[in-house]
Amino acid sequence: MNDQEKQARIDLAAALRWTARLNLHEAVANHYSVVIGDENPQILLNPKLKHFSRVKASDIVKFDLDATDVLSRPDAPDISAWYLHSHLHKQLPRAKVIFHTHMPDTLALACIKDFEFMMLDQNACRFYGRIAYDRDYNGLAIDDQEGERCAQLLGDGKSILFMGNHGVMIIGETIADVFDEMYYLEKAADTQVKVLASGREPAIIPDDIAEMACEQWHEYPGFSNYHFNELKAILDEEEPAYKN
Ligand SMILES: [Zn+2]
Repeated sequence: MNDQEKQARIDLAAALRWTARLNLHEAVANHYSVVIGDENPQILLNPKLKHFSRVKASDIVKFDLDATDVLSRPDAPDISAWYLHSHLHKQLPRAKVIFHTHMPDTLALACIKDFEFMMLDQNACRFYGRIAYDRDYNGLAIDDQEGERCAQLLGDGKSILFMGNHGVMIIGETIADVFDEMYYLEKAADTQVKVLASGREPAIIPDDIAEMACEQWHEYPGFSNYHFNELKAILDEEEPAYKN
């Protein structure tokens, strides 16, 4: 196993465990993936039906991205994980990492008819112009078409997909980046749910300010790495077995 794979396994296990700590997981469902290797790309996925809070680096399953017999193998991942993630990785090379969750406040917003994410606070501005919407819930994603549909929706530079009546898909370059995106998306969604529940009129940030704040977010060097390294340091102290 090379260093890239070793680190990806540790980071993925850390991201899964912190997702469970923050209560953003769903039972033993939901799936995260990362692509490693340039010439012969392989996909790492969380193991099927294992609780996020217990996943160790060695539990992560690995397949060639182009393999056709994955679902008949004993260590096969969840069927919808394979269809969605393998297609998205293949069709969107910039999606090195993909997290799919049903995290509660983001899901609540994805269940509002014709919802558009509001530029309501500083955290929301991070996502200015970066969210795509799938408003055609189609049942559980158990065929190739769902992955291709999601890839098309994310095609024009978006990195967040609100999956209507279902959840969210977040794509990015590194596990630290995508974890940080997930964290702030859910924080901003929590604020939006509370503001909507108040029944008072939301104070929307003007487009030009929201766009500037978005740029400022992305100019903050290495923030997601600092955040993720701190989270791993906590695991190192409290549950070091995640690295095994
Ligand atoms: Zn789902």
